[in-house]
Amino acid sequence: MTKALYMDDSYLKEFKATVESVKDNKYVVLDQTAFYPTSGGVACDTGVLIKDNEEYPVVYAGKFDRKISHEVSKPGLKEGDKVTGKIDWERRYKLMRLHTSAHVLCSIFHNKGGAQITGGNIEPDKARMDFSLEEFDREKIDEYLKIANTLVENGAEVKSSYMNREEALKIPDMVKLANKMPPNVEKLRILEIVGIDTQADGGAHVKNITEIGKIELVKVDNKGKSNRRLYYMVGELKEESP
Ligand SMILES: [Zn+2]
Repeated sequence: MTKALYMDDSYLKEFKATVESVKDNKYVVLDQTAFYPTSGGVACDTGVLIKDNEEYPVVYAGKFDRKISHEVSKPGLKEGDKVTGKIDWERRYKLMRLHTSAHVLCSIFHNKGGAQITGGNIEPDKARMDFSLEEFDREKIDEYLKIANTLVENGAEVKSSYMNREEALKIPDMVKLANKMPPNVEKLRILEIVGIDTQADGGAHVKNITEIGKIELVKVDNKGKSNRRLYYMVGELKEESP
């Protein structure tokens, strides 16, 4: 099992690790990593692994059997190598802002509009949320976006904690979250945006939703009777990222 460093520190940009295995000269598993693997509808990190000043670009990261595999575009790494990993921070920070936005949007569309969130996907330059809503009212959607941006402006802390599945199943509000996670996950990571949303979630988020800046609506598509697809983006930040 790879230790996922981004779970406890999503702002970690550089880390040291040992190569545990290399397959086909390009799939590298480390003992620990800050690279977020493509999962939960969010795109992975890219970056580099460095050994003896030599850079091995990481073009993809994925999760297989609880291990995180880094696909490198240059051969040469082998088992036992000590490496330094560096993630592409600009890409990751954008993904963190978009992913945290998704929590805010889901919460508002669900609580204010009664929408059922059915899916979503986040890439650095394209993010969407799928939901089901009988009535399609463009004005309402604009209103939800406005509410979301007011929340973002006011700010809310984003906190994570861990809970055993057994423990979670005893708390009424947590049962639904616990049941959504695969049964082999014994320890749940609970992600809370204070006053807005609580989820069992292993993703990378910003510390406070003010870091989102502004959520911008790109477009809304109608996909059949009640299926809607909303595309959104986050605006440019005035200040530099942390
Ligand atoms: Zn999340």
